[in-house]
Amino acid sequence: MTKTEQADIKSKLLELGKRLKREAALAAESLREDVVKPGENTSLPTHPADQDVEGLDAEIAIAQNEELLWEQVQAAIQRIEAGNYGVCEQCGKLIDEARLQAIPYAAHCIDCARSDRDAIDQPVRGEPRRFR
Ligand SMILES: [Zn+2]
Repeated sequence: MTKTEQADIKSKLLELGKRLKREAALAAESLREDVVKPGENTSLPTHPADQDVEGLDAEIAIAQNEELLWEQVQAAIQRIEAGNYGVCEQCGKLIDEARLQAIPYAAHCIDCARSDRDAIDQPVRGEPRRFR
């Protein structure tokens, strides 16, 4: 991989990192709005008494997922800066470039990702999710 390609991927990662931070902040904010502590006054007009518990769970999952992805993105940026980007963290082999184009923060080669469930690098879905 050339220096130019790495610079491209780095700016992609920085952009992705910003987007994830923004989405995580939005998810956290909508969580704060939804959570009503026991004993608190729940008569606010914007909060119907019947809380959407399932929706809340989904928001918590999104917030955690975004945080996790953000960490992976930061780690990938650090690997570029350290000069060992594109090397599998597990077996030390070079990660396929097509894989890096699809998942720029991938830390494992396809073989290790397949053999180790914990090492699966999830691709980011195309469009940013929308919050209310
Ligand atoms: Zn590997």
